[in-house]
Amino acid sequence: MTGRVYLDWNATTPLREEARAAMAAAFELGNPSAVHAEGRRARGAVEEARAAVAAAVGARPQDVIFTSGGTEANALALTPGLKTFGKPLDRLIISSIEHASVLAGGRFATDRISAMAVDRSGVVDLEHLKLLLEADGPALVSVMLANNETGAIQPIAAVAELVHRAGGLLHVDAVQAFGKIPIDIKQLGADLVSVSAHKIGGPKGVGALILAEGVAISEPLLRGGGQEQGRRAGTENVAGIVGFGAAVKAAIAALPGDAERMQKLRQKLEKILRQTQGSVIFASDVPRLPNTTLVGLPGLKAETAVIGFDLAGIAVSSGSACSSGKVQPSHVLRAMQVDEALTRSAIRISLGWTTTEGDVERCAEAWRKLIGSLITRDDETELERFQTS
Ligand code: PLP
Repeated sequence: MTGRVYLDWNATTPLREEARAAMAAAFELGNPSAVHAEGRRARGAVEEARAAVAAAVGARPQDVIFTSGGTEANALALTPGLKTFGKPLDRLIISSIEHASVLAGGRFATDRISAMAVDRSGVVDLEHLKLLLEADGPALVSVMLANNETGAIQPIAAVAELVHRAGGLLHVDAVQAFGKIPIDIKQLGADLVSVSAHKIGGPKGVGALILAEGVAISEPLLRGGGQEQGRRAGTENVAGIVGFGAAVKAAIAALPGDAERMQKLRQKLEKILRQTQGSVIFASDVPRLPNTTLVGLPGLKAETAVIGFDLAGIAVSSGSACSSGKVQPSHVLRAMQVDEALTRSAIRISLGWTTTEGDVERCAEAWRKLIGSLITRDDETELERFQTS
């Protein structure tokens, strides 16, 4: 056994060479707000990155607001300063599988929040959304494009139609989907879209909120300077933004081929995981991101299994990496009404553009060894009960 196998790409990705090279040069740049030559060069670099991010989702450059990452983009999207037809939107509808930054960001913005249900495959329940919109009128609705734990892709265009018919606005957290599936803000029908650089081979600590044409943010989160057209004060993270731009260009150029390759490797991995009696691959009956597998096995303890994988040289995560450390069952699986024991066993394996067949084979080998050694006698009984029920 040689080297480490990194299969936690949904948590973060390695920096792309293109981003590293662009950033190294950008560290020397000046303040983009300055009018002198040094400032103008920095401004040019920031605007080139903005154009790349905009083009990647079919938006206009002036509608891209750079932020410190997906978390800040989500928080900015949920500020109470959003209006539709001139009226402020002070009511939120948030799907129950959103990332913690949306759930917490929403609570910060207003206390008028409704939770939208999902089905057992982790896909938002459109009938429930209809009822919520009919009951209380227009709302700002937040639904992610793809879930970070299961990879389940949400029916955003259908959500957008319902939201707009009711006079509301739609925010889409596309942090996990960005760079893994094609995104077009107009086709989605989204009004606000959040993305993050470190999920696509860019640096950590940079992201963007992208607005559909005509959508305005009237209340920034950070106030002071007039940067980002007054929508996000503070001197821009020039090197980070430049790295983001370079990563976006590389990710979009490689997208169709990378996605296809990842999907083939994932198929190979899942074929092996499914051979374990009782194993469950969540959301496998609905459209999913090409790189994500969330697997559960009653009797397996995810926290212990992750350590076992780590000792075997393989990095995977239990449920959402952002919530690991807290040994709390995943709110996503709870929303999908997954049984508690199965929820506690869930391991997320996420692939990336440098993942090889050998990596997948090593992961499968580690899985086979782990399930043999980790299932306790009690758990075996539990497993038998599960299999016969
Ligand atoms: N939204 C989703 C779906 C995520 O998976 C993450 C990070 O894991 C975020 C938002 C937060 O992004 P960032 O780490 O850039 O703050």
